Amino acid sequence: MGSPTGFQQFERRDRGTLPAEERRTNFREFAIPLTDELVSQQGARCIDCGVPYCHSACPVDNIIPDWNDLVYRDDWREAVEVLHSTNNFPEFTGSVCPAPCEEACTLNLHDAPVTIKTIEYSIIEKAWQNRWIEPKIAGSTTDKRVAIVGSGPSGLAAAQQLARVGHQVEVFEKNAKIGGLLRYGIPDFKLAKSAIDRRLSQMQAEGVVFRVNSHVGVNVPVERLVKKYDAVILATGCERPRDLDVAGRDLDGVHFAMPFLTEQNRRIGNEPLDGHQEITAEGKRVVVIGGGDTGADCVGTSIRQGAVSVTQLEVLPRPPDKPDTLLVWPDWPTKLRTSTSHEEGCERLWSVSTTSFE
Ligand code: SF4
Repeated sequence: MGSPTGFQQFERRDRGTLPAEERRTNFREFAIPLTDELVSQQGARCIDCGVPYCHSACPVDNIIPDWNDLVYRDDWREAVEVLHSTNNFPEFTGSVCPAPCEEACTLNLHDAPVTIKTIEYSIIEKAWQNRWIEPKIAGSTTDKRVAIVGSGPSGLAAAQQLARVGHQVEVFEKNAKIGGLLRYGIPDFKLAKSAIDRRLSQMQAEGVVFRVNSHVGVNVPVERLVKKYDAVILATGCERPRDLDVAGRDLDGVHFAMPFLTEQNRRIGNEPLDGHQEITAEGKRVVVIGGGDTGADCVGTSIRQGAVSVTQLEVLPRPPDKPDTLLVWPDWPTKLRTSTSHEEGCERLWSVSTTSFE
């Protein structure tokens, strides 16, 4: 475990951010990392619970207490091994995961969970900086060929695992670049695309073949995949949005979130819009319907594009600032969540149900 008295000795500390005024002027990442020493202290706060709820709350079953302890003991190299044993891409989760582990952490009973997400991010970034992340090339190859449809995080993780056991893996992506939602959905200010590119280089060295502009079912026949490959994995994600069936839905200026976010990512990535309708919030008064993470991404993107004002509507009532932890812990609590995008200048309205557009 970390230090037996670490949670008493050290207060919870987390990454900082650049001031809102500065970050709203550009699309760059704005987190200010902790020093190694501070991350190590945060690792010391972990009490290595007999039943580590952080671990069971983690969607990829990260072995959190173990790498907390390794960071505390300054064994970063082993920490990244343990981290990679359950998670192919900790740089993505360490940047954009909502961290249910921290809500489930025992120390959250006192409102000061271990800074798990930041520790995860720090481990993997240190590993990249020190060139500890190298291709893991399979010792022998099989004669099996696998096609993976979709190059988002699940498609990439499947590709990496299969290539490492010696299969011939090809990933089919309909867009011009690999990455799926990581590349086209998440704004750059939350995830710099260079983080994807360095991981793709590792995967190519491991033997994964990427086929871009290959839209299975459109310009790549499904029959060809089934015939040519021993297995086909569908990792296409969930692209169909939930619509609002209300009057005025077809008016100009009413858009789904994903085309809006995708277009901005294409602009930054110097990709042509290829006939996509140009959507920009510049000079506009913007209303974002939906109070979740995607809505927050639309808020932050609108602000950076130069919106005159941004208002976000949430259908549910305003949640409490603090949950009744003893009642809900270790489950995900309903509480007010204010993202960095909200801090940048956004009005939030609650209990608003959209009945029409005019
Ligand atoms: S729940 Fe918190 S304190 Fe317990 S093992 Fe996990 S990170 Fe450590």
